[in-house]
Amino acid sequence: MTDFPVGTLVWVEVGEGYLLPGKVKAKGKNNNSIIEANGKEHCIAFAQLLQGVKKRDAIPEKGMEDMIKLSQLHEGSMLYNLNLRYKHDLIYTYTGSILIAINPYHLFDIYNVETARAYEGQLLGALPPHIFAIANSAYMHMNANRQNQCVVVSGESGAGKTESTKLILQYLAIINKSTHNLITEKILEATPILESFGNAKTIRNDNSSRFGKYTEVFFDKQGCIEGAKISDYLLEKSRIVFHADEERNYHVFYEMISGLSQEHLDKLGLSAADKYFYLNQGRGISFESKNDSQDFQRLNEAIDFLGIQDTEKDGVFHLLASILHLGNVCFRAKSKEDQFASFKNTEALDVCCNQLQITKERLRVALTHKRTVTRGEEFHTPLLVEQALDARDALAKALYSHLFNWLVMKINSIVYANLPKYSVSIAVLDIFGFEMFQVNSLEQLCINYANEQLQYYFNEYIFHLEQQEYMKEKIDWKTIEVRDNQPCIDLISKFPIGLLHILDDESHFPKSTDESFLDKCHHEHSQNPNYIHPKQKVLVFGIRHYAGNVWYNVEYFLDKNRDVFRNDFVNILQDSKLQFISTIFNQTLTNQPNQTLAGTATRKRMPTVAAKFTQSLNSLIDTMKKCHPFFVRCIKPNEDKSSLNFIEKLVLEQLRYSGMLETIRIRKSGYPIRLDFDSFLSRFHFLARNKEKLREMSPKVGISHILKSVNATGFQIGQSKVFLRETTELILEKTKSIEI
Ligand code: ADP
Ligand code: MG
Repeated sequence: MTDFPVGTLVWVEVGEGYLLPGKVKAKGKNNNSIIEANGKEHCIAFAQLLQGVKKRDAIPEKGMEDMIKLSQLHEGSMLYNLNLRYKHDLIYTYTGSILIAINPYHLFDIYNVETARAYEGQLLGALPPHIFAIANSAYMHMNANRQNQCVVVSGESGAGKTESTKLILQYLAIINKSTHNLITEKILEATPILESFGNAKTIRNDNSSRFGKYTEVFFDKQGCIEGAKISDYLLEKSRIVFHADEERNYHVFYEMISGLSQEHLDKLGLSAADKYFYLNQGRGISFESKNDSQDFQRLNEAIDFLGIQDTEKDGVFHLLASILHLGNVCFRAKSKEDQFASFKNTEALDVCCNQLQITKERLRVALTHKRTVTRGEEFHTPLLVEQALDARDALAKALYSHLFNWLVMKINSIVYANLPKYSVSIAVLDIFGFEMFQVNSLEQLCINYANEQLQYYFNEYIFHLEQQEYMKEKIDWKTIEVRDNQPCIDLISKFPIGLLHILDDESHFPKSTDESFLDKCHHEHSQNPNYIHPKQKVLVFGIRHYAGNVWYNVEYFLDKNRDVFRNDFVNILQDSKLQFISTIFNQTLTNQPNQTLAGTATRKRMPTVAAKFTQSLNSLIDTMKKCHPFFVRCIKPNEDKSSLNFIEKLVLEQLRYSGMLETIRIRKSGYPIRLDFDSFLSRFHFLARNKEKLREMSPKVGISHILKSVNATGFQIGQSKVFLRETTELILEKTKSIEI
């Protein structure tokens, strides 16, 4: 006798690491069942059936719009539901108010003005899941409560964060009741500018953002857009001087070269892109999905539309050109006996200096010598070829990052001018997801630290939501616990011995090395459960992150963290005859206190990369804590950017990284099974000891009677739902299978 007749829907565990949806196809010998799952047939013994195989509740053909409503919520059911929907071109799914967006790699016609209007004023869940619904909810919430909102968009590279962010901004632009359309337009036009300068082709994404971005859009009392403010995080500087095969440098270089007139190119001394070392390391200057020349026109129009002046625009092009020329400056050893660097050719250097309007002789000396000042006296020590190359690359990186900072400041000065105090805002955070590469460095540590912080923020919110649901149903909620990732955050950043603090300290000792930094980390944290001390003597340490264990290679940690831009370079650039150049290098002096004027040796500790990042991240989290949050989890369904290809393993991994499974876990630590009264009664009514009386009882009393009949303990009965522990559901199912 079994409760699994032919046709029964089941969940089976057949070695994929999660439950697969299956169906009993036939009865085999000895009470075995033939179950079909994943296109294959599995023969499952009767005993196993009762233990490992669970009955599966049917779900609608196109899946469930809100996964919270799945009566059975686990990894397998989530994957199955998402896959089912994706197959029907439904890329959006809710889990409560969290939106899961699976990259379709295909533009569906679902983002037009009519669709936007349809979502306007609707409660979340009233219409099918959509990114517009999230934007609309934020807008309604903001207007109703006069409270700041923020939308956290997360996911790995290529998952669709930036596209989602743009869609949210577009939606707000469409539905806000703004009369100052100009400012709204300007905010939207800032996006292509920042993309040209901050995005690049990578293996994972043809338009990969290489910086994190927090965009706040401000609204007045009437709900009209008044302005916006952009904060940027951790622009990838190394890309200026190095990019991997099949990748590129920042878009703007290629766009400029294919879009500028010949006359203008001549003025900048530029020829084809493949002539420049900083642009041609990837063996692919152009690629199919991008039209650089067209994008340049777009960029140009956006720059003009924002009202950036011609002199500034000219300055930007001179600066960009100077970087390309600088990259072609080569060195060689002076002679066999004298290994110090000399210039292989001076042509590129000359053009570079012309573009920057700086003194050739000074740059020549600076690139091949190190300058030190001791007791007011200057010394120039010659550099080896390798060191000269490093100096050249450091200069290129500094030029670009100063330009990028200036650009963000400039855009903000245009879209965030003189806002009144009573503004409320909707912010969107588009920031790199968790990273775990073969070799991980300081950049990954910072990124993963940010993700730990965001995960904490997310957990707090989910925990809070669970509490709300329990309170709404008026049941005891003390049973839920949240797994805290605070210890991991502390390991990385707690004062004074968090890893980033140790790094900061070490970076201020002239004698310290990457090894001495690592020794201190081992010394302080070997006993920390979140810290992994390697067994061999290698230059790495490991961290147990919520998303998995990551090994960090500490080589170059100190250099990267100090990120010194030599004073002699700063001075040369400040003295540029081109006002744009001298201005941006003077401006950043006042903004970034870690640059000091020559000779004025200062004892004050200057913030390092780690210190600055920690500080800006903390201030971001503080701001976000005051907001009402929404979460958009972007998911990449496959690695080859192909449409309609859903690789379950890959999706599952991301659901884990994104903390979606943590929501399930939090839920499981309480009462994961939730059935409304009717479903419970129709499923289990015949378990009642007194079936006659059951008909006369109210649903609540009846349910209580049934649960008592099977001696169940782990349950709570709310206002409209029964909350069950998994074991309780199992008892009910087992008793049922015996009763039949
Ligand atoms: P991320 O910012 O997460 O790295 P992007 O937002 O740049 O990823 O998306 C990568 C690519 O995926 C986009 O260039 C686009 O081709 C495609 N894409 C992302 N979201 C969507 C969407 N909602 N509809 C259609 N295509 C999308
Ligand atoms: Mg992006």
